[in-house]
Amino acid sequence: MRQEASTSIEDLPYTAAVAAATQPILDRLRGVIPEVEWPLHAPYIHRIEQLKRDRNAVILAHNYQTPEIFHGVADLRGDSLSLAMEAARTEADVIVLCGVHFMAETAKILSPDKTVLIPDLRAGCSLAESITGEDVLALRERYPDTPVVTYVNTSADVKAESDICCTSSNAVQVVESLGRDRVIFLPDEYLASYVASQTDVEIIGWQGRCEVHERFTAEEVRGYRRAIPDLVVLAHPECPPEVLAEADYVGSTSGMANYVTEHSPEHVAMITECSMSDNVAAENPETEFIRPCNLCPHMKRITLKRILRSLETMEHRIEVEREISIRARSAVERMLEVGRGSGG
Ligand code: SF4
Repeated sequence: MRQEASTSIEDLPYTAAVAAATQPILDRLRGVIPEVEWPLHAPYIHRIEQLKRDRNAVILAHNYQTPEIFHGVADLRGDSLSLAMEAARTEADVIVLCGVHFMAETAKILSPDKTVLIPDLRAGCSLAESITGEDVLALRERYPDTPVVTYVNTSADVKAESDICCTSSNAVQVVESLGRDRVIFLPDEYLASYVASQTDVEIIGWQGRCEVHERFTAEEVRGYRRAIPDLVVLAHPECPPEVLAEADYVGSTSGMANYVTEHSPEHVAMITECSMSDNVAAENPETEFIRPCNLCPHMKRITLKRILRSLETMEHRIEVEREISIRARSAVERMLEVGRGSGG
């Protein structure tokens, strides 16, 4: 039965009705998606919109999704934690997570009664896969009585073994909230070194890296600056320290997007995954984006075709064992308490 559903996907026609229904999205994406490509995307967007209503589903798109997904079919857009939190507040029965596996797990942890789907189970993450729950337990034995702070880019079982989670925007605040001289900070080596540069708390790190951000170099950034002297450089803290040293602003994906909206720089370079610039450019047409391009192969496994198939077949469902889910959720909630306590 499911095979038949996928055959029908191949045959979606670009009709006049589809063109008319999707015209407002095309208008918004002019300059971001070549118009000649639109007949390839529009039939899927149109059909996905219909199925979303039938299934009472919401589509969540991470900032690194391609513009036809991010602006074409997503109901909620942003970083992984804000997506999971907003989705939990909706009345939807089904969440389709357009991002990678740990993000879908986070959505399931915060919405245990909803069906959470990921369109491609192979969408993993080098950072999340660098560490397991057993590794965390071994670190606890090696550094007894040292709290464990875990970046949200981790699997549910790693979160479950942690004291508290953090994001790239609140990492320093979370570390300092513990009131300790030393913490274990997992798993991103470069985010840990950035946090260490911003606090007096001793940081014990781990050798996890994002395969996208670790590839940027300081010389690359200097090259952009030589070409465009008024260039504003925004960098994600998963980049190597020498890259961050060249940046005008260091922050999360949401922080970078907000920076562009608030400051409207004439020229900007976002040192992060490729699609981020395309998505922010669509909403800030007055800013010219220099687009250093390192693609996340895991994020790019999510396509319109796979989203449609996911809604048709209700696959692939994400499940998190109840006991792990409860403990992982506690670590996330402790982080949210820190934000509330500071009014942040
Ligand atoms: S961009 Fe990096 S951290 Fe994000 S999913 Fe890809 S590999 Fe993981």
